[in-house]
Amino acid sequence: MTRESAFSFSIDQLSKHLERAERILFVTGAGISAESGLPTYRGIGGLYEDRHCNDEVPIEVALSGAMFQQRPEVTWRYILELERTCRGARHNQAHELIARFERHFEVCVLTQNVDGFHRDAGSSDVIEIHGNLKHLQCTRCGHGQEVVNYEHLDRLPPLCDECGGVIRPRVVLFGEWLPEPGVERFRDKLEQGFDLMVSVGTSALFPYIMDPFVAAKSSGTPTVEINPAETDLSSLVDFRLPTIASDALARLWRLIDT
Ligand code: NAD
Ligand code: ZN
Repeated sequence: MTRESAFSFSIDQLSKHLERAERILFVTGAGISAESGLPTYRGIGGLYEDRHCNDEVPIEVALSGAMFQQRPEVTWRYILELERTCRGARHNQAHELIARFERHFEVCVLTQNVDGFHRDAGSSDVIEIHGNLKHLQCTRCGHGQEVVNYEHLDRLPPLCDECGGVIRPRVVLFGEWLPEPGVERFRDKLEQGFDLMVSVGTSALFPYIMDPFVAAKSSGTPTVEINPAETDLSSLVDFRLPTIASDALARLWRLIDT
């Protein structure tokens, strides 16, 4: 079977699953925002493949909770770099298509992205499991603020107006725990069950991303991966759509919107 005929076969089979489905889970990663011009970490177009930052530490170290504790300015330099790539960028057709799926299905989005694009595009049930760059919080007094971008930050690390404590974005740094409310909500959703689970643009390295797909395999829930490159999920899913997010989602959308 050629790549294109394998693709068509997957789409045909998926059409049957979509006809019966009521509840769909989308699990998204940096790849869905690649078409908005945001670099991914790894895989196709990965900005940080083997890259070290100016501080001569690997990105996972610079962006770790431990580094933030010791040298918050190092972590902040990286966070600022990430935020700058988001500045001026907006959600793309892939985010919009996922939001549009709500016209036909009950949709839950679990995203690892911190760009807030799923909500911007209109998805109503989004679990931002790694937080959101636009939410800042003082590490000392807990004072929180919502920002549009970081243009106004004139020193690193930024300090709280109320108490002088170090401010941080409410995102999960490497080595930190996931936010409990998000984890619980996701657990509840998984318990209720899904009729279809779709991974979009993630290298699925984290166990909490991979595990639900492993569980789906034993419960017989059909699974899909949308990613132009192969990942650890690829051999596990029932259907692989090896193309960019907007293309694959547009093809799925055409199946239901007839
Ligand atoms: P990742 O960088 O590890 O993997 C991205 C995946 O997307 C790769 O497998 C790549 O092949 C695929 N991809 C590239 N372009 C694509 C496209 N157009 N359509 C579909 N797939 C495409 O990202 P991850 O799995 O999300 O994990 C990395 C961590 O990086 C996450 O914790 C996330 O919080 C963080 N991150 C977030 C953003 C963001 O918020 N936009 C950007 C970079 C990294
Ligand atoms: Zn404070």
